[in-house]
Amino acid sequence: MTKWPVYKSEEQQERESVEYVFGLTGGELADESFAGYAYNYEGVPEYAESDFPDKWDTEYQTVIVTGGGFLPNPVETLEHAGQTYKLVQHFMSRGETDCPVCGAGGNGVDWWAEEFKAEHGRPPQLNDECGLCETRYADMPGYLYIGEGYEAVYRLVTDAVPNDEVEEDY
Ligand SMILES: [Zn+2]
Repeated sequence: MTKWPVYKSEEQQERESVEYVFGLTGGELADESFAGYAYNYEGVPEYAESDFPDKWDTEYQTVIVTGGGFLPNPVETLEHAGQTYKLVQHFMSRGETDCPVCGAGGNGVDWWAEEFKAEHGRPPQLNDECGLCETRYADMPGYLYIGEGYEAVYRLVTDAVPNDEVEEDY
């Protein structure tokens, strides 16, 4: 069994899976972990921006938790780099999507087969796999499934009085 695409490591494959499932393929995910969460980014989820009208002058951090059946509840407070963050809201995800490489909603099986051939110098056989979703050629188009998860949005806690409250206090 041969794969395409070929990932450097399982971590890289998993990271890319998380990016696609949560719609974060624009490089949003931070390279560094945040309060122990490997998958995180500054700000709030794009689909939920209207829930956070103060997002322009408030520091939000979103962390992603995956794991399917034994999902822990989001913790109320995060500590990171000497700062405290409080949970504001979290958004569930079914943790699945069409595979962007070989799936019906992605580039598709024919494209995958051509790329496979270009990489390995032969057409794929039925048991060769998509490197991202691990679907066999015989079973394509593929589906990417990482298990149920959520995005939890945290707000930076500060002692200072927010600017807009000061202005309203004339
Ligand atoms: Zn695939």
